[in-house]
Amino acid sequence: MTTTTGMRVRVHRGCHEVGGTCVEVEAEGARLVLDVGRPLTAGREDEVPLPDVPGLADGADPSLLGVLISHGHLDHYGLLDQVHPSVPVYAGRAATAIIEAAQFFSPGPSLRTAGHLVDGETFSIGPFRVTPLLVDHSAFDAYAVVLEAGGERLMYTGDLRGHGRKRTFERLLASPPPDVDALLMEGTHVGSERHEPRTEARVELDLAATFRATTSLAVVASSAQNVDRLVTVYRAARRAGRTLLVDLYSVAVAGATGRSTIPQPGFPSLGVWLPRRQRVRVKESGEFHRTAAVRPYRVFTEELVAHPERYVVLGGQSVAHELLRDRALAVGGTFVWSMWSGYLAEPSGARLREATRAAGVPVVEHHTSGRASVRDLRRLVDAVKPGAVVPIHTEGADEFVRHFPGTTPRRDGAWWSVGTEAS
Ligand SMILES: [Zn+2]
Repeated sequence: MTTTTGMRVRVHRGCHEVGGTCVEVEAEGARLVLDVGRPLTAGREDEVPLPDVPGLADGADPSLLGVLISHGHLDHYGLLDQVHPSVPVYAGRAATAIIEAAQFFSPGPSLRTAGHLVDGETFSIGPFRVTPLLVDHSAFDAYAVVLEAGGERLMYTGDLRGHGRKRTFERLLASPPPDVDALLMEGTHVGSERHEPRTEARVELDLAATFRATTSLAVVASSAQNVDRLVTVYRAARRAGRTLLVDLYSVAVAGATGRSTIPQPGFPSLGVWLPRRQRVRVKESGEFHRTAAVRPYRVFTEELVAHPERYVVLGGQSVAHELLRDRALAVGGTFVWSMWSGYLAEPSGARLREATRAAGVPVVEHHTSGRASVRDLRRLVDAVKPGAVVPIHTEGADEFVRHFPGTTPRRDGAWWSVGTEAS
C-alpha cells in the first residue's frame, strides 16, 4: 500500500510567461526540479540568477535529488551552467548529444547528464517514480514526464505539439497516463493563437512549391537544431528535383541524433556547402576532421553561381548575406524564412530584408510552430482527464479557464498541492 503523504509543486517561472521554465516538486521530504530555463526576454549578455531552489546553486541541500530537462531549448535548460555540478541532471541521450555537438558552432551551457530519459522507461529518483514520454517538438528528443510520489501523480508536458511528423501525440492521446492528479500543461498559443498551425507535412509541400517556382538558387534560413525542419526541407528539395546543401552545424546535429534516418552526408541529393564563418572556425580550431569528413560531398560557391537552379541551401540567417555578396543568391532566387517570424522583425532580420530587397530576391516565409494548437491541447486534456490543469509556459493563463475544464491557475513562487485537497 502506498503512503499518501502528498506531492507539492511550485513553479518558479512560467505561470504567466513563455520560456524560462523552472518547476520544483517536493514529496516525502525530497525534491526534483523540472527544467532550469533561461527567460526568452533575457538578452544574450544579461545575468539571470537561478530560481530560489534550495541546493540548486550550492549543491548543499541533500533533499534536492536532481534536475530533469525536458528538451534542449535554452528556455528550458539555459541556466544549467549555474546549477552546482553535484546536482545530477537527467535529459534525453540524443538531446544531450545535440547540445554537445552544437558547442563548436554556438557555445552555451552543456547538459552534462548523469542519467538519460528514455521513452516509456520508468525509473526512480528517491521517492519519485519518473516516466518520460517522448513528444513531438521542434527540439529533437523532447519529453513530457509523469512524476509519481506520495500517492499522487503529476504530468508535465514540457513543450509539445500534435502537428509535427512524429505520431507521439496521437499515441499519447490513445494511451494516456492513468490517474493524473495535476497536468502542468504548456500553453504557448493559448490566448494568442490566430489560426490553426500548419502541419510540418504542409510546410514540406509549400516549400516544394516555392522551390519549383524559383528559377535560381533557393536559400532556407532555419535553426540547425530543428531536426524536423531539416527533414522537411530535404524532402521538399527532393520533391522539387533539387539537391539540398547543408552546413557543418547541420551535419554535426544530424550525426548527434544517432538516427540513420535523419538526412546527412551520404543521402541521395544531399551535399555540403560551407559558409565562410564555419571554414574560419575550423581553421582557427584546427579541427580539420570536420571538413575532411564531408570532403566528398562538398559543393563550392562557384558551382552555386554556375548552376543555382539545381540547389537549395539550408543554413542560418547569416548565410543569405554571404550568398548575396557572392552573387549566388540573385534575381530569380528566393530566400525562405523558416523560423519564428518575430526574428525577422529584429534589427538583424531588418538588415536581411533590406539586403534581399536590394538584390531583387523575394523573402517567403514557410514555418510552423513547435508548440501545440489550442485544439490539440484540448484533445490532450480530454484524453488525460487530469484532476486539475495548471497553466505553464504561457501568457494566456486566464484564457486557460475558458478552454480547459478544471483549470487552476497558479502564481510563480507559490507552493500548491497536487492532490485534490485544497492547497
Ligand atoms: Zn521548446
